[in-house]
Amino acid sequence: MGTFVHAVLEKLLDHDAADRTPELARALARSQFDVTEDQGDYRALQLDEAGARRFRQRAWTMITTYFAEFSPATVVPVAQEMRLNVEVAGVPFRGFIDLVERDGDGTDNAVVVTDYKTGKPPETGTRWSDEQNSEKLLQVMWYAAALMEMGEHDPKLARLLYFTAVDTPDGGFAGRTGVLSAGVDQGSLDAARAELALRWHQIGEARAAGVADAVTGPLCGWCAFVDHCEEGEAHCRAMRVEINPRTGAPRLRDDAPAVALLGLT
Ligand code: SF4
Repeated sequence: MGTFVHAVLEKLLDHDAADRTPELARALARSQFDVTEDQGDYRALQLDEAGARRFRQRAWTMITTYFAEFSPATVVPVAQEMRLNVEVAGVPFRGFIDLVERDGDGTDNAVVVTDYKTGKPPETGTRWSDEQNSEKLLQVMWYAAALMEMGEHDPKLARLLYFTAVDTPDGGFAGRTGVLSAGVDQGSLDAARAELALRWHQIGEARAAGVADAVTGPLCGWCAFVDHCEEGEAHCRAMRVEINPRTGAPRLRDDAPAVALLGLT
C-alpha cells in the first residue's frame, strides 16, 4: 500500500503545480494500479476481486487525505526519491529521501526534508510518546545530515508526513493525518550525528560479540525472521490472543505475515 501511494505522489509532483489536481491523481492512481498488479509484493497479498477493490479504496482515501491536508500544489520539489550514498559521522549511510522541497522563497539552498508515512499517525503529548517520536525523527535528521554532507542543500526542517486510512464501522475508510517535524540546525545535526555514530559502534560491538538483543514490538508481526526469533515469536503469540478494545479484533491482524509463518490461526 505504501509503495503504491508513494509512486502516485511521486508522479503527481512531477507535474506542474497548477496541474496537481485530484483528477490527475486519480488518473495516475489508475495507471499505477496496472503496474502494481504485476508486482510480486502485491500478488503475495492474494487479494480476490473484493480485496483488490478495498485496496484501491483505501489507497484513494489516503491520497485524498494527503490532498486535503498537505496542499500538493504548493510544493516546489527539488528532488524525489533522492538517492543517498555518503558517509555521515564515519558511518556509511545509504537510503532514499522521498521528497526534498524548496523552503521559503527559493532564493537560497534552503530545503525541507520529507519522508511519507502511510501508517498510523503517532500520538503526542506524553513522555512516552515524545520519546518514541524523537526516535522516529532520527531517520529524517540523518537524511538532513547526509544532505549536508553532499553539500548542495541546506536543510532547515526535517519532517515525517503521516496520512493513512482507517476502517470505519460502516465498512468504509476515514483519513487520518499527522506531522512530526524538527528544526535542523547545528545543534540538532550534531546530536543526530553523535547518535548515528553511537549506534554504529554498538552494532559493531554486537557483531564482534556475536550477540544482538531482540527488541520486540508491533512490527514483529511483519518481520521475515520471526520464525527464527524466540522473543519475536512469543510476542506475536501474545498479540494474537490479546484483543484491541478499539477494533474488537486481535492485536496481531489476520493479514500480518507472522500469522501464516507461525501458524497462528
Ligand atoms: S521478530 Fe525478532 S528479529 Fe524480528 S522484529 Fe521482532 S524481535 Fe526483531
